[in-house]
Amino acid sequence: MPDSSYDCVVIGSGPGGYVAAIRAAQLGMKTAVVEKDRVGGRCLNYACIPAKAVLRAADVLTEVREAGDFGIIVDEPRVDFAAVGKRRERVVSTLTGGVSGLFKKNGIELIEGEGSLAGKGAVSVAGKEIAAKTIVLATGSVKRPIPGAEFGGAVIGTEEAWALSELPATMAVVGAGASGAEIASAYARLGTEVLLFEALDRVLPTEDADISKVVDRGLKRQGIAIHTKTFVEDVAATDAGVSFSHGEDSREVQWLVIATGRAPDVGALGLKAAGVELEEHGLVEVDGAMRTNVEGIYAIGDLVHGPALAHKASDEGVIAVEDAAGLRTHPIEYIDVPRATFCTPNVGSWGLTEAQARDEGYDVVVGKVQYGAVGGGTVYGDRNGLVKVVGDKKYGELLGGHIAGTRATELIQELVNVRALEGGFPEVARIIHGHPTLSEAVMEAGRAADGWLIHG
Ligand SMILES: Cc1cc2nc3c(=O)[nH]c(=O)nc-3n(C[C@H](O)[C@H](O)[C@H](O)COP(=O)(O)OP(=O)(O)OC[C@H]3O[C@@H](n4cnc5c(N)ncnc54)[C@H](O)[C@@H]3O)c2cc1C
Repeated sequence: MPDSSYDCVVIGSGPGGYVAAIRAAQLGMKTAVVEKDRVGGRCLNYACIPAKAVLRAADVLTEVREAGDFGIIVDEPRVDFAAVGKRRERVVSTLTGGVSGLFKKNGIELIEGEGSLAGKGAVSVAGKEIAAKTIVLATGSVKRPIPGAEFGGAVIGTEEAWALSELPATMAVVGAGASGAEIASAYARLGTEVLLFEALDRVLPTEDADISKVVDRGLKRQGIAIHTKTFVEDVAATDAGVSFSHGEDSREVQWLVIATGRAPDVGALGLKAAGVELEEHGLVEVDGAMRTNVEGIYAIGDLVHGPALAHKASDEGVIAVEDAAGLRTHPIEYIDVPRATFCTPNVGSWGLTEAQARDEGYDVVVGKVQYGAVGGGTVYGDRNGLVKVVGDKKYGELLGGHIAGTRATELIQELVNVRALEGGFPEVARIIHGHPTLSEAVMEAGRAADGWLIHG
């Protein structure tokens, strides 16, 4: 006999789980969240948020270093890394405290412990059974090693890289995707000698090729030694950290950070016994309403297909519980989910790259504009940023947006919104933008695609 019963039990309190729980409570469901670690999930405690707090410190340092360009003379700044860490913790606790507050406000019960499925409509937590009409699995993902290098000692994952208590002298980062580029860009600017390794032929290899070029130049300017088409091998612990080989060379560094991807955290859930089916990569199989094959059980976030991003997890959480409440929902267009990388230069993108659009047979048109083409780029000190709009000629459809440069992660939202409201690049070109703003470069990229670029 279950000890307690709920309309909705969410396992995991990350951006997928906590948003699902709040929406469920708003819809009138008696809701509980099961969490084995800290409220807010990995995103708030160990990943997105601490990462951005440290990156912000690096950005402030960069601005101070470049202050002379604006006529502001400052002495060479020093990094107090302990204080950077303290602020990082404050940012995390402010936001996780906010989530706890939202649980209270919405009458959501937090149950501490590891949750697993325990037969139809039941969840077990530390030997206690809970009945749930709807169960949402939101347990996220865990780091994954690379062949020949297990985690341990000086071989760490991305979460540990953001939690270091001392600024390292040397660091090698394996994987130049979003996480690897962010770690490299933060630590290099804070003063660490950084080597960045990528097996493919460019940094941010899933972004548009033009964006990779801008980021490659930016990272090199920060002193990062970038090795593409290079595998890190022969990893071995040393007294000072870790040694490894790459191509003909070898190196010893204080920390080796593996940033090559993650795996769904399904170990404790008891999926097999519950009859929940997995896809071939070990992700939980779901339909467009986030339903698994077992009635009443949903899965969201890093457990399921689509980009492993916090905002995608949150949206899936909303879809799952709205479906459970009997509301009409729409499947996510995963290609249109915005992607944000917070290295310098900042990268924001969504949709198809130019190469993907051509491969898919569209009649591709591209509009490309550097920030320097509009007043804001020069005024605010970034003329090198790039906005690239990928469209289809026939109806002016927006297929993808790609931005590298100051505030790209904010600017990209305009193109996402126009697309969501079924506008095309001709609309971007004609919407009036404030002056002087960087967003005028987005408008000009729309005009470039539409064949009437004004500034450039
Ligand atoms: C270093 C790093 C930086 C990132 N930066 C960004 C970024 O800037 N923007 C972005 O959009 N995405 C970012 N991501 C990705 C983002 O963190 C994930 O996509 C997001 O956290 C997924 O949310 P989630 O709710 O699925 O799971 P998580 O945030 O992983 O939360 C899952 C929770 O479930 C708990 N849990 C697991 N198993 C159980 C169990 N059996 N019982 C009870 N509780 C359990 C865990 O303790 C955890 O708290 C980053 C990832 C990393 C690693």
